[in-house]
Amino acid sequence: MHSRRLFLKNALLAGAAVLTGADRWRHWLPLPEDMNDSSVRWPAVIATWDNRKATAAAGAILSAGGRALDAVEAGARVAEADPNDTSVGYGGLPDRDGNVTLDACIMDEFGNAGSVTYLQHIKHPISVARRVMEKTPHVILSGDGALEFALSEGFSKENLLTDEARRAWEAWKIKSEYKPVINSERHDTIGIIAIDAQRRLSGACSTSGMAFKMRGRVGDSPIIGAGLFVDNEVGAATATGLGELVLKTLGTFLIVEEMRRGKHPQKAVEIAIRRIAQKYPKHARENQVGYIALDRRGRHGAFSLQPGFNYALFQGGQNRVFEAASLWKR
Ligand code: ASP
Repeated sequence: MHSRRLFLKNALLAGAAVLTGADRWRHWLPLPEDMNDSSVRWPAVIATWDNRKATAAAGAILSAGGRALDAVEAGARVAEADPNDTSVGYGGLPDRDGNVTLDACIMDEFGNAGSVTYLQHIKHPISVARRVMEKTPHVILSGDGALEFALSEGFSKENLLTDEARRAWEAWKIKSEYKPVINSERHDTIGIIAIDAQRRLSGACSTSGMAFKMRGRVGDSPIIGAGLFVDNEVGAATATGLGELVLKTLGTFLIVEEMRRGKHPQKAVEIAIRRIAQKYPKHARENQVGYIALDRRGRHGAFSLQPGFNYALFQGGQNRVFEAASLWKR
Protein backbone atom coordinates (compact mmCIF):
# COMPACT_ATOMS: atom_id res chain seq x y z
CA MET A 1 0.00 0.00 0.00
CA HIS A 2 2.72 2.34 1.03
CA SER A 3 4.76 1.70 -2.10
CA ARG A 4 1.68 2.13 -4.30
CA ARG A 5 0.96 5.50 -2.74
CA LEU A 6 4.57 6.49 -3.24
CA PHE A 7 4.39 5.40 -6.86
CA LEU A 8 1.27 7.48 -7.44
CA LYS A 9 2.84 10.49 -5.76
CA ASN A 10 5.96 10.19 -7.90
CA ALA A 11 3.90 9.77 -11.05
CA LEU A 12 1.95 12.93 -10.23
CA LEU A 13 5.13 14.86 -9.54
CA ALA A 14 6.62 13.71 -12.84
CA GLY A 15 3.47 14.90 -14.59
CA ALA A 16 3.66 18.26 -12.85
CA ALA A 17 7.20 18.73 -14.06
CA VAL A 18 6.17 18.78 -17.70
CA LEU A 19 2.77 20.40 -17.29
CA THR A 20 3.30 23.93 -16.11
CA GLY A 21 0.05 25.76 -15.46
CA ALA A 22 -3.31 24.28 -14.56
CA ASP A 23 -4.68 24.85 -18.07
CA ARG A 24 -2.43 22.28 -19.59
CA TRP A 25 -4.19 19.47 -17.77
CA ARG A 26 -7.22 20.15 -19.89
CA HIS A 27 -5.43 19.05 -23.03
CA TRP A 28 -4.95 15.59 -21.71
CA LEU A 29 -8.08 14.69 -19.80
CA PRO A 30 -11.02 13.21 -21.70
CA LEU A 31 -14.32 14.86 -20.87
CA PRO A 32 -16.87 12.49 -19.30
CA GLU A 33 -19.26 12.92 -22.24
CA ASP A 34 -16.52 11.84 -24.65
CA MET A 35 -16.40 8.41 -23.09
CA ASN A 36 -19.90 7.61 -24.36
CA ASP A 37 -19.54 9.16 -27.77
CA SER A 38 -18.60 6.63 -30.44
CA SER A 39 -18.05 9.45 -32.97
CA VAL A 40 -15.08 10.78 -31.03
CA ARG A 41 -12.09 10.54 -33.28
CA TRP A 42 -8.76 12.25 -33.18
CA PRO A 43 -6.30 13.03 -34.57
CA ALA A 44 -8.12 14.77 -37.41
CA VAL A 45 -7.47 17.57 -39.88
CA ILE A 46 -9.89 19.50 -42.04
CA ALA A 47 -9.17 22.06 -44.77
CA THR A 48 -11.22 24.36 -46.98
CA TRP A 49 -11.69 23.21 -50.58
CA ASP A 50 -10.18 20.07 -52.08
CA ASN A 51 -6.87 20.61 -50.36
CA ARG A 52 -6.28 16.87 -49.96
CA LYS A 53 -2.57 17.24 -50.61
CA ALA A 54 -2.46 19.63 -47.67
CA THR A 55 -4.52 17.39 -45.37
CA ALA A 56 -2.34 14.43 -46.37
CA ALA A 57 0.83 16.31 -45.39
CA ALA A 58 -0.76 17.43 -42.13
CA GLY A 59 -2.24 13.99 -41.49
CA ALA A 60 1.16 12.33 -41.88
CA ILE A 61 2.51 14.53 -39.11
CA LEU A 62 -0.45 13.78 -36.86
CA SER A 63 -0.27 10.04 -37.55
CA ALA A 64 3.35 10.06 -36.45
CA GLY A 65 2.30 11.61 -33.14
CA GLY A 66 3.24 15.16 -34.14
CA ARG A 67 1.85 18.46 -32.94
CA ALA A 68 -1.24 19.99 -34.53
CA LEU A 69 0.61 23.29 -34.98
CA ASP A 70 3.30 21.64 -37.12
CA ALA A 71 0.62 19.81 -39.07
CA VAL A 72 -1.39 22.90 -40.02
CA GLU A 73 1.73 24.84 -40.97
CA ALA A 74 2.91 21.97 -43.19
CA GLY A 75 -0.54 21.72 -44.77
CA ALA A 76 -0.74 25.43 -45.55
CA ARG A 77 2.74 25.35 -47.06
CA VAL A 78 1.59 22.75 -49.59
CA ALA A 79 -1.06 25.15 -50.96
CA GLU A 80 1.29 28.14 -50.79
CA ALA A 81 3.90 26.40 -52.93
CA ASP A 82 1.42 25.20 -55.57
CA PRO A 83 1.55 27.50 -58.64
CA ASN A 84 -1.82 26.11 -59.79
CA ASP A 85 -3.52 27.42 -56.70
CA THR A 86 -4.33 30.92 -57.89
CA SER A 87 -5.43 32.33 -54.59
CA VAL A 88 -2.65 31.29 -52.24
CA GLY A 89 1.06 32.14 -52.16
CA TYR A 90 3.11 31.47 -55.31
CA GLY A 91 0.85 31.71 -58.35
CA GLY A 92 -1.75 33.79 -56.50
CA LEU A 93 -3.63 36.35 -58.61
CA PRO A 94 -2.37 39.89 -58.03
CA ASP A 95 -4.11 43.08 -57.00
CA ARG A 96 -5.32 45.48 -59.69
CA ASP A 97 -1.81 46.94 -60.04
CA GLY A 98 -0.16 43.57 -60.57
CA ASN A 99 1.22 43.02 -57.03
CA VAL A 100 0.86 39.65 -55.34
CA THR A 101 0.16 40.50 -51.70
CA LEU A 102 -0.32 37.79 -49.11
CA ASP A 103 -2.23 37.44 -45.85
CA ALA A 104 -1.84 34.58 -43.37
CA CYS A 105 -2.33 33.72 -39.73
CA ILE A 106 -1.77 30.85 -37.34
CA MET A 107 -2.96 29.94 -33.83
CA ASP A 108 -1.78 27.26 -31.44
CA GLU A 109 -3.30 25.26 -28.58
CA PHE A 110 -2.31 27.87 -26.00
CA GLY A 111 -4.17 30.66 -27.78
CA ASN A 112 -0.97 32.17 -29.14
CA ALA A 113 -1.46 33.86 -32.49
CA GLY A 114 0.68 35.30 -35.28
CA SER A 115 -0.23 37.00 -38.51
CA VAL A 116 1.15 38.78 -41.55
CA THR A 117 -0.83 41.08 -43.79
CA TYR A 118 0.02 42.64 -47.12
CA LEU A 119 3.27 40.66 -47.31
CA GLN A 120 5.01 40.61 -50.68
CA HIS A 121 7.73 38.41 -52.22
CA ILE A 122 7.72 35.64 -49.62
CA LYS A 123 6.54 32.21 -50.70
CA HIS A 124 5.50 30.93 -47.28
CA PRO A 125 3.62 33.64 -45.37
CA ILE A 126 2.27 31.02 -42.95
CA SER A 127 5.77 30.31 -41.70
CA VAL A 128 6.43 34.03 -41.29
CA ALA A 129 3.17 34.27 -39.29
CA ARG A 130 4.41 31.46 -37.07
CA ARG A 131 7.67 33.33 -36.46
CA VAL A 132 5.69 36.47 -35.60
CA MET A 133 3.83 34.36 -33.03
CA GLU A 134 6.90 32.69 -31.61
CA LYS A 135 9.57 35.37 -31.87
CA THR A 136 7.94 38.77 -31.46
CA PRO A 137 5.83 40.41 -28.77
CA HIS A 138 3.18 41.18 -31.44
CA VAL A 139 0.34 39.40 -33.21
CA ILE A 140 0.33 41.12 -36.61
CA LEU A 141 3.13 42.47 -38.80
CA SER A 142 2.17 44.18 -42.01
CA GLY A 143 3.62 45.21 -45.39
CA ASP A 144 7.24 46.31 -45.49
CA GLY A 145 7.67 45.62 -41.77
CA ALA A 146 6.52 42.04 -42.27
CA LEU A 147 8.87 41.68 -45.24
CA GLU A 148 11.84 43.09 -43.30
CA PHE A 149 11.10 40.70 -40.45
CA ALA A 150 10.84 37.75 -42.85
CA LEU A 151 14.17 38.63 -44.46
CA SER A 152 15.81 38.99 -41.04
CA GLU A 153 14.53 35.49 -40.24
CA GLY A 154 16.25 34.07 -43.32
CA PHE A 155 13.30 33.85 -45.72
CA SER A 156 14.29 34.68 -49.28
CA LYS A 157 12.73 37.25 -51.58
CA GLU A 158 11.10 35.76 -54.67
CA ASN A 159 8.93 36.77 -57.56
CA LEU A 160 5.52 35.27 -56.85
CA LEU A 161 3.76 36.44 -60.01
CA THR A 162 3.65 33.46 -62.37
CA ASP A 163 3.25 33.93 -66.15
CA GLU A 164 -0.23 32.50 -65.88
CA ALA A 165 -1.26 34.94 -63.15
CA ARG A 166 0.24 37.84 -65.14
CA ARG A 167 -1.76 36.81 -68.21
CA ALA A 168 -4.95 36.60 -66.15
CA TRP A 169 -4.26 40.09 -64.77
CA GLU A 170 -3.60 41.48 -68.26
CA ALA A 171 -6.87 39.98 -69.49
CA TRP A 172 -8.66 41.46 -66.46
CA LYS A 173 -7.25 44.94 -67.15
CA ILE A 174 -9.18 45.18 -70.43
CA LYS A 175 -12.42 45.72 -68.50
CA SER A 176 -10.93 46.38 -65.04
CA GLU A 177 -14.12 45.30 -63.34
CA TYR A 178 -13.83 44.09 -59.72
CA LYS A 179 -16.26 41.23 -59.41
CA PRO A 180 -15.47 38.44 -56.93
CA VAL A 181 -16.06 35.08 -58.57
CA ILE A 182 -18.05 32.52 -56.58
CA ASN A 183 -16.08 29.29 -56.00
CA SER A 184 -13.38 30.45 -58.42
CA GLU A 185 -12.02 27.15 -59.72
CA ARG A 186 -12.96 25.53 -56.43
CA HIS A 187 -9.56 25.92 -54.96
CA ASP A 188 -9.13 28.96 -52.94
CA THR A 189 -7.75 30.29 -49.69
CA ILE A 190 -6.54 27.48 -47.49
CA GLY A 191 -7.94 27.38 -43.97
CA ILE A 192 -6.77 24.27 -42.15
CA ILE A 193 -7.45 23.14 -38.59
CA ALA A 194 -6.26 20.06 -36.74
CA ILE A 195 -6.50 18.16 -33.50
CA ASP A 196 -3.61 15.89 -32.64
CA ALA A 197 -3.36 12.67 -30.64
CA GLN A 198 -2.87 14.70 -27.48
CA ARG A 199 -5.98 16.73 -28.26
CA ARG A 200 -4.09 19.89 -29.03
CA LEU A 201 -5.95 22.10 -31.51
CA SER A 202 -4.29 24.50 -33.95
CA GLY A 203 -5.20 26.30 -37.14
CA ALA A 204 -3.68 28.15 -40.09
CA CYS A 205 -5.10 30.29 -42.87
CA SER A 206 -3.27 31.61 -45.94
CA THR A 207 -4.34 33.53 -49.04
CA SER A 208 -3.38 35.97 -51.73
CA GLY A 209 -6.79 37.55 -51.13
CA MET A 210 -9.47 38.47 -53.61
CA ALA A 211 -8.15 38.60 -57.17
CA PHE A 212 -7.69 42.15 -58.51
CA LYS A 213 -8.45 43.76 -55.16
CA MET A 214 -7.50 47.39 -54.50
CA ARG A 215 -3.89 47.97 -53.60
CA GLY A 216 -3.54 47.74 -49.81
CA ARG A 217 -6.67 45.65 -49.28
CA VAL A 218 -6.43 43.15 -46.43
CA GLY A 219 -9.10 40.48 -46.04
CA ASP A 220 -10.34 38.27 -43.23
CA SER A 221 -7.74 35.54 -43.58
CA PRO A 222 -4.99 37.08 -41.40
CA ILE A 223 -7.42 38.44 -38.80
CA ILE A 224 -7.80 36.37 -35.65
CA GLY A 225 -11.50 35.78 -35.00
CA ALA A 226 -12.42 36.43 -38.64
CA GLY A 227 -10.48 34.06 -40.93
CA LEU A 228 -9.39 31.79 -38.10
CA PHE A 229 -10.04 31.17 -34.43
CA VAL A 230 -8.83 28.41 -32.12
CA ASP A 231 -9.74 27.78 -28.49
CA ASN A 232 -8.29 24.55 -27.20
CA GLU A 233 -11.05 24.16 -24.61
CA VAL A 234 -13.72 24.22 -27.29
CA GLY A 235 -12.72 23.90 -30.94
CA ALA A 236 -11.54 25.81 -33.98
CA ALA A 237 -12.98 27.33 -37.15
CA THR A 238 -11.70 28.86 -40.37
CA ALA A 239 -13.17 30.68 -43.35
CA THR A 240 -12.97 31.17 -47.08
CA GLY A 241 -14.82 33.43 -49.48
CA LEU A 242 -15.55 37.14 -49.51
CA GLY A 243 -13.47 38.34 -46.59
CA GLU A 244 -15.45 41.54 -46.05
CA LEU A 245 -18.51 39.51 -45.02
CA VAL A 246 -16.45 37.38 -42.65
CA LEU A 247 -14.76 40.44 -41.14
CA LYS A 248 -18.02 42.26 -40.49
CA THR A 249 -19.47 39.29 -38.60
CA LEU A 250 -16.26 37.93 -36.98
CA GLY A 251 -17.41 34.56 -38.25
CA THR A 252 -14.89 32.14 -36.77
CA PHE A 253 -15.05 33.73 -33.33
CA LEU A 254 -18.82 33.42 -33.49
CA ILE A 255 -18.56 29.73 -34.46
CA VAL A 256 -16.21 28.91 -31.58
CA GLU A 257 -18.46 30.77 -29.14
CA GLU A 258 -21.48 28.81 -30.38
CA MET A 259 -19.54 25.57 -29.84
CA ARG A 260 -18.64 26.81 -26.35
CA ARG A 261 -22.36 27.10 -25.67
CA GLY A 262 -22.68 23.43 -26.58
CA LYS A 263 -23.53 23.56 -30.28
CA HIS A 264 -22.31 20.82 -32.59
CA PRO A 265 -19.77 22.24 -35.08
CA GLN A 266 -22.26 21.76 -37.92
CA LYS A 267 -24.90 23.80 -36.13
CA ALA A 268 -22.29 26.44 -35.23
CA VAL A 269 -21.14 27.00 -38.85
CA GLU A 270 -24.76 27.23 -39.98
CA ILE A 271 -25.45 29.94 -37.41
CA ALA A 272 -22.47 31.97 -38.67
CA ILE A 273 -23.58 31.68 -42.31
CA ARG A 274 -27.14 32.66 -41.40
CA ARG A 275 -25.79 35.67 -39.51
CA ILE A 276 -24.22 36.94 -42.75
CA ALA A 277 -27.50 36.42 -44.59
CA GLN A 278 -29.45 38.28 -41.87
CA LYS A 279 -27.10 41.23 -41.69
CA TYR A 280 -26.07 41.58 -45.33
CA PRO A 281 -28.83 39.95 -47.39
CA LYS A 282 -27.88 41.49 -50.73
CA HIS A 283 -24.18 40.63 -50.50
CA ALA A 284 -25.02 37.21 -49.09
CA ARG A 285 -27.08 36.46 -52.21
CA GLU A 286 -24.30 37.46 -54.58
CA ASN A 287 -21.17 36.15 -52.90
CA GLN A 288 -19.66 33.06 -51.39
CA VAL A 289 -18.50 32.41 -47.83
CA GLY A 290 -17.65 28.95 -46.54
CA TYR A 291 -16.83 27.90 -42.98
CA ILE A 292 -15.37 24.72 -41.54
CA ALA A 293 -15.10 23.84 -37.84
CA LEU A 294 -13.68 21.11 -35.68
CA ASP A 295 -14.37 20.62 -31.99
CA ARG A 296 -12.20 19.04 -29.33
CA ARG A 297 -14.06 15.76 -29.69
CA GLY A 298 -12.98 15.53 -33.35
CA ARG A 299 -16.46 16.32 -34.67
CA HIS A 300 -16.60 18.64 -37.67
CA GLY A 301 -18.97 20.94 -39.54
CA ALA A 302 -18.98 22.74 -42.92
CA PHE A 303 -21.47 25.13 -44.48
CA SER A 304 -21.53 27.89 -47.08
CA LEU A 305 -23.75 30.56 -48.56
CA GLN A 306 -23.68 29.18 -52.11
CA PRO A 307 -23.54 25.58 -53.27
CA GLY A 308 -20.16 24.41 -54.55
CA PHE A 309 -18.06 24.68 -51.40
CA ASN A 310 -16.15 21.51 -50.54
CA TYR A 311 -13.60 20.49 -47.94
CA ALA A 312 -10.94 17.86 -47.30
CA LEU A 313 -11.01 15.74 -44.16
CA PHE A 314 -8.27 13.46 -42.86
CA GLN A 315 -9.64 11.26 -40.10
CA GLY A 316 -9.47 7.61 -39.11
CA GLY A 317 -6.61 7.08 -41.59
CA GLN A 318 -8.73 8.24 -44.55
CA ASN A 319 -8.20 11.39 -46.58
CA ARG A 320 -11.39 12.38 -48.37
CA VAL A 321 -13.17 15.32 -49.94
CA PHE A 322 -16.80 16.19 -49.16
CA GLU A 323 -19.37 18.61 -50.53
CA ALA A 324 -20.63 21.07 -47.92
CA ALA A 325 -24.31 21.88 -47.56
CA SER A 326 -25.28 25.48 -48.35
CA LEU A 327 -27.84 28.09 -47.38
CA TRP A 328 -28.89 28.92 -50.94
CA LYS A 329 -29.77 26.09 -53.25
CA ARG A 330 -29.66 28.01 -56.54
N1 ASP B 1 -11.16 35.13 -47.71
C1 ASP B 1 -10.17 35.56 -48.63
C2 ASP B 1 -10.13 37.05 -48.66
O1 ASP B 1 -11.17 37.70 -48.59
C3 ASP B 1 -10.33 35.10 -50.03
C4 ASP B 1 -10.86 33.74 -50.25
O2 ASP B 1 -11.11 32.97 -49.35
O3 ASP B 1 -11.05 33.42 -51.42
O4 ASP B 1 -9.07 37.61 -48.81
